[in-house]
Amino acid sequence: MKLGDITRVLPAQEKALKRLGITTAIDLLYHFPTKYNDLAEATTISSLKAKDSVVIFGRISNLETKKGFRTNVPMATAKVTDDTGFIEVVWFHQAYLAKMFLDNSLVRVEGVVSERKNGTLYFSNPKIESISKVPTGVGDSLFTDTEDHSLHPVYSETKGITSNWMLHVLQKIFNSTYFENINDPIPEYILQKYNLPHLHTALAWIHTPKKKEHYEMARKRFSFEEIFFIQLARQQEKYLLSKEHSYAVDISDATINEFIKRFPFKFTDGQMKAINDIRDDFRTGHPMSRLLEGDVGSGKTAVAAATAFAITVTRPRGQNFGNLQTAYMAPTEILAKQHFESFIEFFSHLPIQIGLITGSGCKKYPSKVNPNGATDISRTQLLKWVKNGEISILIGTHALIQKSVEFKHLAYVIIDEQHRFGVNQRHKVARKDNHLPHLLSMTATPIPRTLALTLYGDLDLTILDQMPTGRKPVITEIIMPKDREKTYEKIREELRAGRQAYIICPRINEPDPDKEQVVNARNTATEAKHLKEKIFPEYEIGVMHSKMTTQAKDKVMKDFSDGKIHILVSTSVVEVGVNVPNATVMIIEGGERFGLAQLHQLRGRVVRSNHQAYCFIAVESSSQKTTERLQAIKNAKNGFELAEADLAQRGAGGLSEGKQWGVSDLGMEAIKNIKMVEAARTEATNIIKSDSHLTSHPLLLEKIAIHRETHFE
Ligand code: ADP
Ligand code: MG
Repeated sequence: MKLGDITRVLPAQEKALKRLGITTAIDLLYHFPTKYNDLAEATTISSLKAKDSVVIFGRISNLETKKGFRTNVPMATAKVTDDTGFIEVVWFHQAYLAKMFLDNSLVRVEGVVSERKNGTLYFSNPKIESISKVPTGVGDSLFTDTEDHSLHPVYSETKGITSNWMLHVLQKIFNSTYFENINDPIPEYILQKYNLPHLHTALAWIHTPKKKEHYEMARKRFSFEEIFFIQLARQQEKYLLSKEHSYAVDISDATINEFIKRFPFKFTDGQMKAINDIRDDFRTGHPMSRLLEGDVGSGKTAVAAATAFAITVTRPRGQNFGNLQTAYMAPTEILAKQHFESFIEFFSHLPIQIGLITGSGCKKYPSKVNPNGATDISRTQLLKWVKNGEISILIGTHALIQKSVEFKHLAYVIIDEQHRFGVNQRHKVARKDNHLPHLLSMTATPIPRTLALTLYGDLDLTILDQMPTGRKPVITEIIMPKDREKTYEKIREELRAGRQAYIICPRINEPDPDKEQVVNARNTATEAKHLKEKIFPEYEIGVMHSKMTTQAKDKVMKDFSDGKIHILVSTSVVEVGVNVPNATVMIIEGGERFGLAQLHQLRGRVVRSNHQAYCFIAVESSSQKTTERLQAIKNAKNGFELAEADLAQRGAGGLSEGKQWGVSDLGMEAIKNIKMVEAARTEATNIIKSDSHLTSHPLLLEKIAIHRETHFE
């Protein structure tokens, strides 16, 4: 039901509501308060003291507009009275505000009490709004209204829509037959089992609680609801996928060991287990959907290569020529190119062709003229060879999932750093072609187990919890301005020993993404200049940021790889996957500006060899919160520990990170609670087991359809 069918909505209000994502009654019902002002804490006027930050209720009168006495500034004054006294309200510059109130109407005033030289108290430009009634227990006993409650909901507002307006409309909705007829999609037995309020109750409680327990119970229900719907969608996907067919691939231990032996290192037990999990999935003939979660530097690329090898040496069914194909998607061009070069190395002994497709061009290996190298080719040409099956392995960025890219026998899709892509793309890639390919998602994002269970409920999980032997944990230090000299000295020491360094400059959060890049670019440039002139004149310094041309980026990356550049001053574009094993020290400037997960990723750039690595996180401010947060990264032994610490540290409401995964702040509250996540998962799995198409749960079916639309498309 549209809001307009319930109350009069002016065009300006309609626009404002749209900004909040509200068009229907259900949208408004699900627009939950961001907080509740406890009216028991409202103050009576007689008890006000200067500098108090307070909320009062009263009647407004004596509204006057005038010019300031000496200053000539337009201003308005009024008086607010409750049954204990009155106080003056003054608006400077906002004289029009006075016109918005009717004389003698009820208002809620929130602000800091000011005091004149002569001792009289007043409010200067307070937050003030009309209310229809004053809640019980506050000030004037004349205002008593038994219908009332003492918790006043506050909503995220936008210009033209106030919390009061919303509350007013919500009351209308609550009293409508429409509301009466809303059905609760969550089955009754689940509500009972977990002691969750029914939808009607929960909605009433979350908007108009009479006590704290009300909105707490309601929030619990809605956070369960969100996780439950996600689980339901994922469990259904998982079930349906298990019924599909895929390429059955089975190669012998001997064959794969032959390939593994070519690497200059011994695979870890973790890598071998991951490879075997994947080979088991390949054999089933049903599409694999597996998440490989391994900390930065744990060697996921080698797992990808060995399993891609199994695909590559397998012939398409009924054919005694050609190969099954692999698509390998990376989140950045730098990374795609790096994988392309590694794969050329891994596969150069086989008579196969490897392609690279990115936004800025395509390559193919081997080149006709140079059998040991790659060559640039046109996109059209590459796509033709991918389509006719001649390219066995195609590596690329997002360009890989465009409609124009068609494969002949796509049997295996690998998504590197899949957290970078979002959920929908992972399915887009997976759905290419009529046969469903096997899917391997790889991530180093240390996400808490509860979140993984929820978001990746449709995937099987392999954890690579072992680092290659000989790796030493990176030494991480938080650097205050006074430690700078010492830090540069340490870096000089490493450079002298033949190592290389990264200096990461912060991203400055500007709303305009273009602007942000300009600021970044300037920062890296200034920093590089400063370092070259003042600190490390004897070393080669390179600059890297995302606004550079592809050629410039390639050149810098190559020079850094080849050791021609000693210090790379970069934005966080090197965050993901970049692999230059000789770089073993890093300074992260403005460390407080980065999220913990991002810091961990950045730090991962220097743990790619057996040299001792150092990461210096430089901070400008030393607030306790910052220091505490950064201590977590200093102490956590691996990404998983860090993720758990991160989740535990955040208070409710500080979880905006969930947005990137399509989980609301409320949903993230559930994520903090392993019992709730497990309950949602169990119930969802049980329902799908007995009713996989949800034919006997039409309400749930409808809900997850909406959920899919808003979150995954
Ligand atoms: P990530 O898991 O972060 O993607 P990579 O696959 O890039 O890690 O591997 C990091 C580095 O470790 C690479 O230089 C790789 O060659 C090396 N490596 C991978 N596996 C092993 C191993 N078993 N022993 C030693 N080095 C390894
Ligand atoms: Mg990687």
